[in-house]
Amino acid sequence: MIPGSFSYHRPTSVADAIKLLVDFGDEARPLAGGHSLVPMMKLRLATPGHLVDLHGIAGLKGVRRDGNQVVIGAMTTQHELLGSEEIAKSLPILQEAAALIADPQVRYRGTIGGNVANGDPGNDMPALMLTLSASYRLEGPGGARDVAASEFYQGAYFTALEPGEILTSVSIPVPAAGHGYAYEKLKRKVGDYATAAAAVVLTVSGGKVASCAIGLTNLHETPLLATDAAKAVTGTSLDAASLKKAATAAEVIMSPASDARGPVEYRKHVGGIMVVRALQRAFGRAK
Ligand SMILES: Cc1cc2nc3c(=O)[nH]c(=O)nc-3n(C[C@H](O)[C@H](O)[C@H](O)COP(=O)(O)OP(=O)(O)OC[C@H]3O[C@@H](n4cnc5c(N)ncnc54)[C@H](O)[C@@H]3O)c2cc1C
Repeated sequence: MIPGSFSYHRPTSVADAIKLLVDFGDEARPLAGGHSLVPMMKLRLATPGHLVDLHGIAGLKGVRRDGNQVVIGAMTTQHELLGSEEIAKSLPILQEAAALIADPQVRYRGTIGGNVANGDPGNDMPALMLTLSASYRLEGPGGARDVAASEFYQGAYFTALEPGEILTSVSIPVPAAGHGYAYEKLKRKVGDYATAAAAVVLTVSGGKVASCAIGLTNLHETPLLATDAAKAVTGTSLDAASLKKAATAAEVIMSPASDARGPVEYRKHVGGIMVVRALQRAFGRAK
């Protein structure tokens, strides 16, 4: 339970942070809220020799509207997302999901950047980012680039981040006014990671689903976009047969781990149920 020894660095600019990451190479890791990294260090599953704390860098925090996008600084905490008027107005699904992450103590420190950059299939924000067509700003020794969330996740703990790169912000297109949304998360107890979770954002026109996106958490080694499940309900009024088709289409792409949260078949089954519940709740909320 005691981490290995490490040197602590607190740069005050993105450029300085990148330089430290480049200079120390594989030995260095960015530190954000520390609520995923530090537990891994305590278990000696991560043994970085250098921690590059991002808290001293001005400008990595905050939520702002930029045209039709909401831009969220990487160091914005889950607690700050919950208190943001812009998020409440434009992206309420983020608040619904943030409130289901761990407990207030974790949410005070845990950041959106750390949550999406971590690459842990159990993190809740990545599937939301896929559902919302978000993109990530990555800055590194080669300059800045934007990567779609759908292209970012390559495997458990493997992402598109290149050596020396930092995720500095997340940009999310604002969904249509009156959209319906829901994040359904099954967990063993309060504060736990998802056994299975589904995010839905949809629009309704004339009593039928006009557009729909569905994301899945902890049902594969990466977050998933359930495209065929979304197609199964588009153009329908969410009748029982369409909901069943959507659940089946989502289950087909799931390949969760068999672990303390349950065997594969159970997790796929409850994953389908999360999809159905999220669709129904989102449909009921759409205006
Ligand atoms: C008891 C407990 C329960 C939890 N339950 C949940 C849960 O239900 N759902 C959930 O989603 N999360 C959960 N978490 C994790 C929590 O949300 C973390 O805060 C989050 O996963 C990581 O954010 P962080 O800011 O703490 O990042 P850190 O732990 O500091 O970093 C995580 C990883 O991302 C890297 N990193 C961090 N920021 C950046 C950046 N800007 N650019 C590049 N790399 C970066 C770090 O190097 C590290 O590898 C839980 C944590 C605890 C302790």
